[in-house]
Amino acid sequence: MTTAKAYIEQAFATVKARNPHETEFLQAVEELFDTLEPVIEKHPEYIEENILERIVEPERVISFRVPWTDKNGKVQVNRGYRVQFNSAVGPYKGGLRFHPTVNQSILKFLGFEQIYKNVLTGLPIGGGKGGSDFDPKGKTDREVMNFVQSFMTELHKHIGPSLDVPAGDIGVGGREIGYMFGQYKRLRQFDAGVLTGKPLAFGGSLIRPEATGYGLVYFTDEMLKANGKSFNNQTVLISGSGNVAQFAVQKAQELGAKVISVSDSNGYVIDETGIDFDLLVDIKEKRRARLTEYAAEKSTAQYFEGSVWNYEGAADIALPCATQNEIDSEKAERLIKNGVYAVAEGANMPSDLSAITIYRDNGILYGPAKAANAGGVAVSALEMSQNSQRLSWTSEEVDNRLKDIMANIFATAKETAETYDLGRDYLAGANIAAFEKVADAMIIQGVV
Ligand code: GLU
Repeated sequence: MTTAKAYIEQAFATVKARNPHETEFLQAVEELFDTLEPVIEKHPEYIEENILERIVEPERVISFRVPWTDKNGKVQVNRGYRVQFNSAVGPYKGGLRFHPTVNQSILKFLGFEQIYKNVLTGLPIGGGKGGSDFDPKGKTDREVMNFVQSFMTELHKHIGPSLDVPAGDIGVGGREIGYMFGQYKRLRQFDAGVLTGKPLAFGGSLIRPEATGYGLVYFTDEMLKANGKSFNNQTVLISGSGNVAQFAVQKAQELGAKVISVSDSNGYVIDETGIDFDLLVDIKEKRRARLTEYAAEKSTAQYFEGSVWNYEGAADIALPCATQNEIDSEKAERLIKNGVYAVAEGANMPSDLSAITIYRDNGILYGPAKAANAGGVAVSALEMSQNSQRLSWTSEEVDNRLKDIMANIFATAKETAETYDLGRDYLAGANIAAFEKVADAMIIQGVV
């Protein structure tokens, strides 16, 4: 009989052989597989049904040409994708990322993570992800519109309210979703439920823009409280300055923390008096400018080039909200040396495998991305519910549901870790709980 350990090793070898160049995807698979031995030991049917080899294979990967015309009349070509990873518990659901680093490996890692994140919300949504290597930075609104219209002209063939419901991610916010919706409507019909993260004017949900950042802070607050701590008077480091980071700054400060940093791809700002949320939003959303402007306008702030995780000052809590692999072992060690005792992830896979090992070995309270940043997609699923009902809920109602969902996710991760005698390993707890649900749903549906 194959042991759980041998089965996991064999399945991982197969994924590696089949996707030799997809580094980020292999990393996400390894992070999950590393925690699954106890649950596979308990369920021999997972081996009999060969669940691991099935779960790592996307149901469908669509890639397509996106030709568009720039402001000088020159024809540009980008590549568009949609990875429809797993629909065992609901229609494919997940964001679209527009960033020059986008490729199949990145979208497969994001789609794979999305499956487990989505099931942890307790809402009926499967996992998917998509996007393009298009770079919205420095483009005019018209150029973005031209690109988006071409992108949607292909994408619309593959999505629908009960099939696949895209939303935003890095580089895709209200402006892009607006253009996408307009083009979808023109090609098909008005169908609010085909995209989430929509502007309020046509079926968007209150609290959706805030949801990932707020949800991250609600999750972290639960994790801190379960360990006799709280945000009050804590010094917090946040990376990123997009939508997730902005609302994490706001909510953490509301709970009494002092958030001293935000960052962009060039550098970071340290503001010892606490990041000014209104100024940050004005610079990033209205002016679409860089953080150097923050430091130029705020006398208490200093701007430094490079990664915020090179910062040498003292801090208590770190909330990485920028992008994948922003923290490696060296940066994780620096955080611990500077006093950080809790890390919770607003970005997807911001800590690499060596950083996670450092957190584990040092007893850091660690809230992994697929649990800690599930608030965004959770409110997307609430937006889908409102669209189906043709109703819109109040901010209080959505916010209360978000709080409950994040508290439940933390409780699930904690209780599952305890059930399996894994102490405070919330990564293993979240992975096992999510994997069990998806695997069971797949088995019930037969070999499909
Ligand atoms: N892109 C977000 C995530 O990583 C949100 C996805 C959604 O709302 O569908 O979960």
